[in-house]
Amino acid sequence: MTRVAVVGAGVTGLAAAWHLNRAGAETVVFDSVDWVGGRVGSAEFAGRQVDTGPDALGPDPAIDELLDGIGLAGQVEIPDPPQAFRLTAAGELEPFGVGGGAMFGLAGGIFSLPAHLERSLRDAGVGFRLGSAVESVTERDDVVSVRVDGSEDVFSAAVVATGAGAAAKLIGGASAEQLARIKGISVTLVHLAFPEGRIGREMNGTGYLADPAEGRLVTGCSWSSAKWRRLSGDPAILRASIREDGRGEVIDLPDEEIVAKVMDELRPVMELEGEPIGTMITRYPEALVVRDENHESAVSAARASLAASPRIGLAGADFDGPGISRSIAGVRKTVDSIIEGTRND
Ligand SMILES: Cc1cc2nc3c(=O)[nH]c(=O)nc-3n(C[C@H](O)[C@H](O)[C@H](O)COP(=O)(O)OP(=O)(O)OC[C@H]3O[C@@H](n4cnc5c(N)ncnc54)[C@H](O)[C@@H]3O)c2cc1C
Repeated sequence: MTRVAVVGAGVTGLAAAWHLNRAGAETVVFDSVDWVGGRVGSAEFAGRQVDTGPDALGPDPAIDELLDGIGLAGQVEIPDPPQAFRLTAAGELEPFGVGGGAMFGLAGGIFSLPAHLERSLRDAGVGFRLGSAVESVTERDDVVSVRVDGSEDVFSAAVVATGAGAAAKLIGGASAEQLARIKGISVTLVHLAFPEGRIGREMNGTGYLADPAEGRLVTGCSWSSAKWRRLSGDPAILRASIREDGRGEVIDLPDEEIVAKVMDELRPVMELEGEPIGTMITRYPEALVVRDENHESAVSAARASLAASPRIGLAGADFDGPGISRSIAGVRKTVDSIIEGTRND
């Protein structure tokens, strides 16, 4: 039987394992940390379980197929009302687009996706080696060698779904140089809990986006407790995000300074009275790839260099993303070519 290693148990690696398992491959998933989900995470805040990373999914037939396949299709939740706003240069909120079914959530939060996938995969017999940092992935003589904890495990093929930086270290060679060109922006997420009675602005939508070119730090503010049914209640929950090029500067400031900067911007827009009664900051250094020409050429050059190792596939948000749905659409192709390439083993 074809035996395939999946390196990385983020949503992409888990989706790869799901496709491999369905195609009949014996599959083992590795992750350096001892939990699944990667950049998808959750934490308790203001008495509710919030997503600390992604909180919505974009439309794509590949995500529909996956949700259907693992029995989560009935959990799809569309914000009501789906209206988003844009902050004008004059500081007014004006309706923009209509999220009408474009982005959607899951009734249990996006963190329920990796949790549910892990359970389905374990039930289907997929092996998990969590807490095992892979050191290298190399192809030779029609096998792929995966080095973990100083010893070698041999597979027919491997899907590397770790993110570009880690993938460069694992596979080395000419592809690594190309992968190193992929740049990410840093994101700092600030959750704020505010008694409803101290928010003057009606939260009649999903939140607002702001243009950093207008000198704003907060590029988006989700009205999380209005956006998602499971998060409704008092105090209200707001989620502000700050995006910065490269490593960023705000991301390294102490929590109180970040909260003060966010409050300076949110106070007039949301008509906030007083200070938040709870705050939580989550930092993601260089975690969101910038999809530009440089990205496109780096990804195709890295994949072209890897053509000499057809049993190793690159998958994940840093290559096909940046969002989850596009990453999951991309992993399908990677798995199909691996299955095709190992057909005669
Ligand atoms: C703040 C923020 C908000 C976002 N919001 C959204 C959103 O609303 N909607 C959306 O669709 N997307 C969103 N994204 C993007 C989304 O997070 C990614 O598309 C997705 O989570 C990436 O999944 P992945 O599996 O490709 O990578 P990851 O989640 O990064 O998984 C990679 C895994 O590889 C493991 N790993 C790394 N090195 C090794 C090694 N040597 N050995 C073993 N394991 C290793 C890591 O531990 C990790 O678990 C957001 C991202 C950020 C940062």
